[in-house]
Amino acid sequence: MKNIDLHNHSRVSDGLLAPAELVRLAAGNGVTTLALTDHDDTDGLEEAAQEALALGLRFINGVEVSVTWAQHTIHVVGLNIDPGDATLLEGLATIRSGRMERAEKIAQELAKAGIPGALEGALRHAHNPKIVARPHFARYLVEQGLARDVPSVFKRFLVQGKTGYVKHRWAELGDAVAWVRSAGGIPVLAHPGRYSLNHSTMDRLIDEFVEAGGLGIEVVTSNHTRDQAEAFAAQATRRGLLASRGSDYHGPGESRLEPGKLPPLPPQCVPVWQAWGDVALH
Ligand code: AMP
Ligand code: MN
Ligand code: MN
Ligand code: MN
Repeated sequence: MKNIDLHNHSRVSDGLLAPAELVRLAAGNGVTTLALTDHDDTDGLEEAAQEALALGLRFINGVEVSVTWAQHTIHVVGLNIDPGDATLLEGLATIRSGRMERAEKIAQELAKAGIPGALEGALRHAHNPKIVARPHFARYLVEQGLARDVPSVFKRFLVQGKTGYVKHRWAELGDAVAWVRSAGGIPVLAHPGRYSLNHSTMDRLIDEFVEAGGLGIEVVTSNHTRDQAEAFAAQATRRGLLASRGSDYHGPGESRLEPGKLPPLPPQCVPVWQAWGDVALH
């Protein structure tokens, strides 16, 4: 039985596990094809690929690119990328460069709210100094006893309208898609159901994503309800987009579903892995 999971994080971005540990967990869960898709960085791919080779599962090089579109933060997953592509690597370096400054601002906001030491606290959790992300702050806030767990942090802190939120400008949608295409990859609109967009804005996002060269949409993800998966499957079919499946796993205690433990794609979907030939034979 094929079990393909194309969205996962390691401690190279905001996940908890080392790339090889993630691959071992996925293999234990029966995943046959796995993509590592760390935010804005590709440093974990080599380690993950080696472990996958040793364990006999198919590995797909991936990345999740942070985008600002019409004031919204949107994520574009790039699948089956060439991790050595200079255009992609330069683009990712540009996005990463703003993270430390944003982290300083987040810490200042938290300090104003009576929570000191957050920059140092977050950096202690950031395994890769190039990627300081909100979950690293969330782990510090849990440590400080301000929330029970990481998902609960995001109900009161670090999101728009709450303590410690800092507005930030990421990559342009068209650039993110172009970088992934430059690296020979398939740009996939990540977890569309998570963006708070009304119907017409969502349509406009997908229009612009397709115009820019986007090719796929995440249909089954731990962020989607069953109804959302059905709705985005219909959307993908209508627009001729490839459909992807990925858990968006971040680590023990921080994610609803483990790698591979999610429903199959609705049957009308054209799976993104169809384009990769031998992957489908796994
Ligand atoms: P950043 O790229 O630093 O803005 O961090 C974004 C990451 O924070 C996402 O990839 C998630 O891992 C996490 N995150 C953001 N919002 C939430 C939320 N509402 N609940 C849980 N995790 C979240
Ligand atoms: Mn994340
Ligand atoms: Mn995401
Ligand atoms: Mn993700």
